[in-house]
Amino acid sequence: MAKIGINIATGSLQQEEMIVGIDLGTTNSLVAIIHPESRKPLALKEHNSSSLVPSVVHFGEHNVVTVGEEARKFLITDPANTIFSAKRLMGKSYNDIRQNADFFTYKVIDDNTESLVKVQVGDRFYSPIELSSFILKELKARAEHILKTPVTKAVITVPAYFNDAQRQATRDAGKLAGLDVLRIVNEPTAASLAYGLGLDPAQEKTIAVYDLGGGTFDISILKISNGIFEVLSTNGDTYLGGDDFDRAIVRQWMKEHGITDETIRTNKELAQALRLKAEAAKKHLSNHEVFIDSIDKFHLQITVAEFNKVTAELVNRTIECCRAAMKDAGLEVNQIDEVVMVGGSTRVPLVKKMVSAFFGREVHDELNPDEVVAMGAAVQADILSGNNKDFLLLDITPLSLGIETMGGLMDVLIPRNSKIPTRVGRQYTTQKDGQSGMRIAVYQGERDLVKDNRKLAEFNLTGIPAMPAGLPKVEVSFLINADGILVVKAKEIRSGVETSIEVKPQYGLTDEEVEKMLLDSITHAKEDIATRALVEARTEARQLIDTTLNFIEKNREFLTEQEITETMGAIEGLEKLILSGNKDQVQGAVEALNNLSRPYAERLMDQAISMAMKGKKI
Ligand code: ADP
Ligand code: MG
Repeated sequence: MAKIGINIATGSLQQEEMIVGIDLGTTNSLVAIIHPESRKPLALKEHNSSSLVPSVVHFGEHNVVTVGEEARKFLITDPANTIFSAKRLMGKSYNDIRQNADFFTYKVIDDNTESLVKVQVGDRFYSPIELSSFILKELKARAEHILKTPVTKAVITVPAYFNDAQRQATRDAGKLAGLDVLRIVNEPTAASLAYGLGLDPAQEKTIAVYDLGGGTFDISILKISNGIFEVLSTNGDTYLGGDDFDRAIVRQWMKEHGITDETIRTNKELAQALRLKAEAAKKHLSNHEVFIDSIDKFHLQITVAEFNKVTAELVNRTIECCRAAMKDAGLEVNQIDEVVMVGGSTRVPLVKKMVSAFFGREVHDELNPDEVVAMGAAVQADILSGNNKDFLLLDITPLSLGIETMGGLMDVLIPRNSKIPTRVGRQYTTQKDGQSGMRIAVYQGERDLVKDNRKLAEFNLTGIPAMPAGLPKVEVSFLINADGILVVKAKEIRSGVETSIEVKPQYGLTDEEVEKMLLDSITHAKEDIATRALVEARTEARQLIDTTLNFIEKNREFLTEQEITETMGAIEGLEKLILSGNKDQVQGAVEALNNLSRPYAERLMDQAISMAMKGKKI
């Protein structure tokens, strides 16, 4: 399955490694790849088994750790040592989860409420990062077993609302599991990618991604333009999901058979059996009219109509979240172009029906809803691995790189989307006579003024020999190597003095920040153009004032008193406009000053020429 490559340095054959996509879910996790032949996303699974790995970790005797389906069996029989929903604890302190502490049947440490939580199992303590890494290790091992090749690189998805700490925790979990996490992708973005939405850069769409999983509900409104995903709004309920549907069925059956809460609390086996049967019933009802089964003496039956009745309230709550998300995004439902269904619970017909009714359109449910996020992560992984030639994401600079020039303007040396490695050089000169140093400030971003961009580095080129302004030639070169490291060098050509520095342009920048910087440049394009024009007019004006003052200084004796007063007045007026005028006013005043000085400048020129002529002997 894997591609074969040739290592040019050693001449040896080597397997090119596949980058996998991972959905690290609250309830279930899975791995997907792009099939090398069919080029279609594919969730990995062993023969006859599910692609889903329950996100459950059990710690048994003698430190035996089991993950997935095996571990799930211990949820009721050994709750203190069986960790589920570790994702809910990622990047959280005890204070963050205090309100929902009852939810966790295992021990979440509460003595240091400010710092990141730990979970206690027996006499051992685990961080959510470690717990997640157990799940990721299991996924990695599975993928390696199925693909029969080492897997060390992955794209992992997270909810759109995850903050930096939670994203970093997810990255760290990957690292701990022996995975190089090439990118963290938002789950709704991944789901859209799986449906091919956003792959065409010319496409502009507004998408609603409705994700109802096992214990969580998320609605995200996304906007795609120029191949960039922007999250317009998110909403949801972190304690609402398929598990609540199961509980609703259990309560219905308890009512029918007069089973009390007390019985459920004390008879753990019955409780577990009912919950498992309820989940089976729910799944069955997704494509049947009635479910019939039994546990001991209890006859268990439920129809779709009854199921809809006991769950309608839950589905309604998700619709209210959708309404709130639309309001936050400032959109009407008719402005949504696509609705994507994600999460196992969207298989419930009532859910599909109500979501479709709310958005007034058919929803996307062609792909497996519990595999679609992993599939989209695989699409992203494939793009990163360079297999998808239309999208060379790793091999281009996502943002422009340049230096600050006069007036705080951004002078771009390497425009965004340039292929790397690349090298670019440009010459600059000094502004003042005898200037011995030059400050080189390196920026990244798309805005015209450096103050709106991201500063990467700054250094001084010193030791420029004394020369009149404009004479030194300082060559500034930008070199980005294949690893994305930028080397900036400044060299004064005449004297040979040089300085250089190295920066990592993407260091500390999340994908979302890059996206935001790009979007900002689009939003501010108009005002940026205006600002640039004004800054350029001001710079031109200052230069004209300098040369004019210089000229007057040197030629004072040849000028009339009136010429000098008029010119000084014009200069004063221009100086005021530099501070407060608009571009047209500054340009107008520049022209006026030029018109004023041109006649006497020409006159002096003519005099100089005729004097030179007179001096010559014919
Ligand atoms: P998460 O994203 O939270 O990890 P999933 O997307 O895997 O969760 O969804 C898990 C939920 O989907 C569980 O509650 C499960 O019972 C439910 N589910 C799976 N298949 C079906 C089905 N056929 N009908 C209804 N619900 C289902
Ligand atoms: Mg999910």
